[in-house]
Amino acid sequence: MVIYKFGGTSVGTPTRMHKVAQLITSDPTDKIVVLSAVSGTTNTLVEIGELLLDNKHHIAKKIIEELEEKYKSFVDELFATEPGKAAGGEMIKDFFRQLHTLAIVPGFNEGNNKTLLAYGELISTHLFHHYLNEVQEPSVLLPALDFMTIDKEGEPEVENIGKRLSQLLQEQKSQFYITQGFICRNPAGQTDNLKRGGSDYTASLIGAAIHAEEVQIWTDIDGMHNNDPRIVQDTHPISELTFDEAAELAYFGAKILHPSSILPAQKYGIPVRLKSTMDETAAGTLIGVASAKADIKAIAAKDGITAIKIKSTRMLLAHGFLRRIFEVFEKYGTSIDMITTSEVAVSLTIDNKTHITKIVEELRAFGTVELDENQSIICIVGNMVSEKKGVLMKIFDAIPDIPVRMVSYGGSRNNISLLVDTNYKKEALMGLNEGIF
Ligand code: ASP
Ligand code: MG
Repeated sequence: MVIYKFGGTSVGTPTRMHKVAQLITSDPTDKIVVLSAVSGTTNTLVEIGELLLDNKHHIAKKIIEELEEKYKSFVDELFATEPGKAAGGEMIKDFFRQLHTLAIVPGFNEGNNKTLLAYGELISTHLFHHYLNEVQEPSVLLPALDFMTIDKEGEPEVENIGKRLSQLLQEQKSQFYITQGFICRNPAGQTDNLKRGGSDYTASLIGAAIHAEEVQIWTDIDGMHNNDPRIVQDTHPISELTFDEAAELAYFGAKILHPSSILPAQKYGIPVRLKSTMDETAAGTLIGVASAKADIKAIAAKDGITAIKIKSTRMLLAHGFLRRIFEVFEKYGTSIDMITTSEVAVSLTIDNKTHITKIVEELRAFGTVELDENQSIICIVGNMVSEKKGVLMKIFDAIPDIPVRMVSYGGSRNNISLLVDTNYKKEALMGLNEGIF
């Protein structure tokens, strides 16, 4: 079994949905297809939910009506036959009847909101399933809410998901299943979700839960690139990455994959392949094969970073100092990305500034605190452990004129991170591209 996941843009228009259908049905592999909501829909549902939580029913109702109009035209274009259009139209009418009912629930709460957010994926999968019926391609629609569950901590229950899903696959034998990304059920049995962008996570979870051969994530980019294509010209897709390398890249800006989404696949050793719906013949990126080749594979950058320096002579020969500093960040639920230390100072970076004022206030108890905002982490990813001597030299030679605020090397064999002022990011990415690739 192979798991295919198509994102919101891949099913964003009727034409693109036709394309996905064609791509999928021309491939004889047994498969489960995971779909996101039509692009833009989840954002609209979030907006509607916020209005309803805020008791602004009239505006919410209007936006629901506008959304329904969009889907009416979608149906008109998606289906070619009269019976197809009629069935699709009925289905949309029914879904929007449910949405309108939900919108007038007295005391609309967070739980109702989660039910609301699930409609994007419910609608896209039903549309796709109906379309496949129209073109006489047999498929089975598996409701994600029948097998995808999270525990009290919000963690997916991979074992249970596997058991229930295997049972469903047994009961309804097919070579072609469709299901919803993103949505799940919580321990109270209510509709919940795997957080924004969670459809990749669904695909990876399903792959892990039923020990699939492979998980394929289809987007409109032909894989993870060796540098940021928006900034550097002539980047190329990386053919192979290890899970660790992919995780580093996913976190540092390579928007193609949700950072936590490959974890289940990694845990169960299921390869993840990134493919492009715009060019299905392109090889894409295969994540999972451990490549022994030592080299630098990619560079990525993450903006919006704040560096914090805590300087204190009390640090000298003291123990427990770092713990106390970390506790401040823990208290405010703020995670630390980079860290470097000297005998009398610690510099670290955060990307979430929500509690910065309070954090700085508390850190002042330890010594002087300096802030540098608008920083970028440049992350160099690859297999660095056995790199020929001089990997650092190669990096710094490539960017002789860039002031580097922090360096992190040796944290893992897969990553060297540099912190620079965001004004230097472009120059740094281009210089490194020149010097390394
Ligand atoms: N539709 C959801 C979102 O927009 C999930 C996803 O697309 O991955 O966040
Ligand atoms: Mg997505």
